[in-house]
Amino acid sequence: MSDLLETIGVIAVCALGLAVAAIAAGVVFLNAQRRRKKIVSPRLTMLLIGLLYQPARAVLKRLGRTPRGIELAGIDLLNLYAERDFRAVAPQERILMLPHCLRHLECPAKTTFSGGIGCVLCGKCSIAEMEKLCREKDVRCHIAMGSQFVRRILREKRPGAMLGVACANDLFRLMYEVNRNGLPMVGVLLSKDGCIMTDVDWTEISDRIFAT
Ligand code: SF4
Repeated sequence: MSDLLETIGVIAVCALGLAVAAIAAGVVFLNAQRRRKKIVSPRLTMLLIGLLYQPARAVLKRLGRTPRGIELAGIDLLNLYAERDFRAVAPQERILMLPHCLRHLECPAKTTFSGGIGCVLCGKCSIAEMEKLCREKDVRCHIAMGSQFVRRILREKRPGAMLGVACANDLFRLMYEVNRNGLPMVGVLLSKDGCIMTDVDWTEISDRIFAT
């Protein structure tokens, strides 16, 4: 009996060791791609991001740390993953999804079920300028109220690619989900988050959404 228990113990320790080694190898592989700014194996990259995010998040939580670092790394990797396919889609087939927190607190826009928040170009926030550019260049732009709205718009409008803007947690999760489902999505992180009156690098958005 004690021999059997000893064998089970050895197997369990070996399995644990293998799992830790596999996780470490996965992290090294993802980090190497991020540093070189090149995805060498798209499928493996998506698989590893999906497999490693929750365990890494749980470990950081236990250590009393936030998962922001791994979400930022994930966003970098997903941008590398999707960039080429995103650029292969004509700007008029892309969709720009802005978060409602970029609006001014006194935004007069009305919300409709079909289009979400309809900017009336009042000029109180910087969305007006981007909205005008998008209309000029015939690029679809939406102000999203949440991830359910984004999913519905993607189902109904069927764009060829998407550029999303959000805080680290929301952006990482959405980019992972959308890219895993086969739609190239790149993302721009909010430069100032906090859920109201947020900000973003509008030049970066413009450079990416209109890039040909
Ligand atoms: S510019 Fe558009 S989004 Fe910004 S506050 Fe005015 S109506 Fe709202």
